[in-house]
Amino acid sequence: MIKDLLTEEPCGQHTVTRGWVRTKRTMKNLVFIEVYDGSCFAALQCTFDRTTELSIETQTTLDALSTGASVEISGKLVSSPAQGQCVELAADEARLIGAASGESYPLQKKGHSFEFLREIAHLRPRTATIGAVARIRSRLAYAVHTFFQEQGFQYVHTPIITTNDAEGTGAMFQITTLDLAKITAGTLDYSKDFFGKKAFLTVSGQLEGETYAAALSRIYTFGPTFRAENSNTSRHLAEFWMIEPEIAFAHLEDDMALAEKFIKYLFTDILDKHSDDLEFFDTHIEKGLIATLQSVADSRFTHITYTDAIRELEHHAANFEFKPFWGCDLQSEHEKFLTEQLAHGPVIVTDYPKEIKAFYMKTNSDGKTVRAMDVLVPRLGEIIGGSEREDDLEQLQLRMRELGMDIPSYWWYLDLRRFGSVPHAGFGLGFERLVQYVTGMANIRDVIPYPRAAGQAEF
Ligand code: ATP
Ligand code: MN
Repeated sequence: MIKDLLTEEPCGQHTVTRGWVRTKRTMKNLVFIEVYDGSCFAALQCTFDRTTELSIETQTTLDALSTGASVEISGKLVSSPAQGQCVELAADEARLIGAASGESYPLQKKGHSFEFLREIAHLRPRTATIGAVARIRSRLAYAVHTFFQEQGFQYVHTPIITTNDAEGTGAMFQITTLDLAKITAGTLDYSKDFFGKKAFLTVSGQLEGETYAAALSRIYTFGPTFRAENSNTSRHLAEFWMIEPEIAFAHLEDDMALAEKFIKYLFTDILDKHSDDLEFFDTHIEKGLIATLQSVADSRFTHITYTDAIRELEHHAANFEFKPFWGCDLQSEHEKFLTEQLAHGPVIVTDYPKEIKAFYMKTNSDGKTVRAMDVLVPRLGEIIGGSEREDDLEQLQLRMRELGMDIPSYWWYLDLRRFGSVPHAGFGLGFERLVQYVTGMANIRDVIPYPRAAGQAEF
């Protein structure tokens, strides 16, 4: 792979490389072909000298090659006189593997808009930006697994199909095998549906995750989740990946410590392993990106309760469009203030009003707030949301009744509080939001290979 070649000491060894043509330039008798294979950010420059003896096949290939074609090129690896690269291939043989039918190849020129690239999502990983996103995404996924496995967490696959319709997290996609064309108003009979009742795509693996934490102590889930978000924002997808660790015999403090360690591990790893890709994003997508990631990795996260945070925000109310008050959900501008102005670094806000948080969070003794925590980072705001879970059966049922939830359908979730209940806590991290933060990409649709959003499910 080109990645390996570029780290080798160039001493004229004979090498064969395969990849796709990014550019072809001709200068007098020299032909420069930039070949990439996606193994790293850089492409390999292959230089042919037409005054030397070249086979007929090589000569025809050099004439026919165009951007996007796949080739095999051999030559000697030598140190490069050109700026910005240390090795190049003094090439003597080229073989066309697959031509890219000339003019009609959509990626002829550089600088296509991301909107346009989404329309050719099957070809866009061949661009420098989307290729770099794909490598970073892959490495982050690996780092997620490595982090948890090294800390003794077991990876649990939670179901994608669920029949809990009231997790209270947002709109769900219903799934059915009933013949919709034959159904007339008022005749739906879910007992005849595939699962014998209404079924949906999951919005979170947390509740099932909790059941495995109550058996294996430390678990994490990492899988696809679905939300029928019609909001059309640059931060929401209909299909996205979520990471949800859950720890037993643990309180909110343990949860916060885990979240901090996790974020720092991921950033340190990606800075170390993908500096070439990150430099590209820092230069072309978001200036200061590397410095931000490094500062989060080196920082100590500040802890503040929601109540104290609101007090601070109220002191600076003049700065905000949305006036902060106790009971309000924190807006982006508030989160930005807390990280960038107040703490000058990451902040964990704890103990939110129960009304703005999920039913399963543990109620504090004040009866008004719950043991929730959100991790906020500079530039983005919330990156992680978590909590200690209500482990007391009575309290949990009380809260579910207050919210008018269908308690019997949660019998299995409540059983955890009946049999060997333990304090436990966990959090959720949207994987695409993480990739967005690490790359600086403005739109979440550009950090997942095939984005699914309202009106968009091509490919
Ligand atoms: P938001 O306020 O941004 O809609 P949320 O409060 O609905 O987020 P949670 O229910 O806490 O989010 O979900 C956990 C995590 O999943 C979020 O912190 C976020 O990173 C991610 N997430 C939520 N909804 C989406 C979505 N539609 N697309 C991509 N990621 C999402
Ligand atoms: Mn949401």
